[in-house]
Amino acid sequence: MNRMATKWLTFAPLFLPAVYLFFTPFPQAWLDIGLFLLLAFFYWRGMLWPKHREMKIVIQLVIVSFFIFLHTPWHMCFGFYPAITMSQLASYRRISWMVGSMIGCFAAAVTLSAYLATEPLRFEWLPISIAFIAVPYVAKMYHVSCEVHAKLSEAHAEIIKIGERERIARDLHDTLGQTLSMITVKSELAERLIEPSPDQAVMEVRDVQRISRMTLLQIRELVNDMQSIDIREELRRAEQMLVTAGIEAETSMRMDADRMMPIERNILGMCLRECITNVVKHSGAGKCSIQILEDKEQYVLLVCDNGIGITKGPLQARQYGAGLLGMKERLSLIQGTLELNTDQENRTKVTIAIPHHRM
Ligand code: ADP
Ligand code: CA
Repeated sequence: MNRMATKWLTFAPLFLPAVYLFFTPFPQAWLDIGLFLLLAFFYWRGMLWPKHREMKIVIQLVIVSFFIFLHTPWHMCFGFYPAITMSQLASYRRISWMVGSMIGCFAAAVTLSAYLATEPLRFEWLPISIAFIAVPYVAKMYHVSCEVHAKLSEAHAEIIKIGERERIARDLHDTLGQTLSMITVKSELAERLIEPSPDQAVMEVRDVQRISRMTLLQIRELVNDMQSIDIREELRRAEQMLVTAGIEAETSMRMDADRMMPIERNILGMCLRECITNVVKHSGAGKCSIQILEDKEQYVLLVCDNGIGITKGPLQARQYGAGLLGMKERLSLIQGTLELNTDQENRTKVTIAIPHHRM
């Protein structure tokens, strides 16, 4: 819910007990309206500004007690305002203090007005007063659960980020580890060859240069890839790639990618890129369809081709190459799944599903 809607919901209850005001004849109604505006003012201040909140609640309690005293115990309905304001207090202990004060004020007002009117005390209003006692606690529980929910979704995003960081570290390690050790071995060799065979040493040093340049390029690609891959851009790229390879492309996107988390767009984009590379490289297909859609629970990417097919039935784990395994691993970071199927007509269908992480 956006901030505006929440604000309006905060003030909506203001209009409920105000109905009572219509039953007061003029000119006494002016006093009631004045009191009501004062009550509304302290409710509004108490809800939105934490400073001196307890004092604002006490003022509201006094105003409501005044209403009860002037009219009937049913005017206790105005107690709705201080009760809601109490739910904004920091602890249940403070709420309990305020609830105690509310019971005290209202009981005193009811008793005093009955005493002065020399009427016997009546208790029909007791059930609503019990509801007022529950309101601050229930509303507080609701606030607490909303906060817990928000914290959980923050932690969830953090876990995804950590996973992604680990993946980048792993990718960097895979790219760099091998080439750096190659550079070390080759430069050691060059050092040993300088005296006995300077020509060969020069060749080894040139090799080292070539490898380090290549690595630099690889790292640039890796970083660029990670930053820029996005499902919308990838879909356009996929179409171009298929057309260039002479494969008829059919694409449809029925979802709002803006609502996805950046990491979801990124991983889904990487998966699409890998799927299309596979179609071009392995399938020998003449046609390929890409569908991206969304239902209540998940985003789905479907890539179907009419090529040679992967296998009959789901691919066995040992047949997965680095591409499919990489996709699976990346998807697992965001609880996504990958399914491969070949139907009777040898069409390969890759289904990727990513559950919504919006909370
Ligand atoms: P790589 O592309 O490096 O071989 P992948 O994990 O991407 O590794 O793919 C594993 C294997 O699955 C491929 O070698 C290929 O035999 C098969 N494959 C993947 N996609 C398709 C496809 N669309 N059509 C036919 N075979 C496929
Ligand atoms: Ca591949």
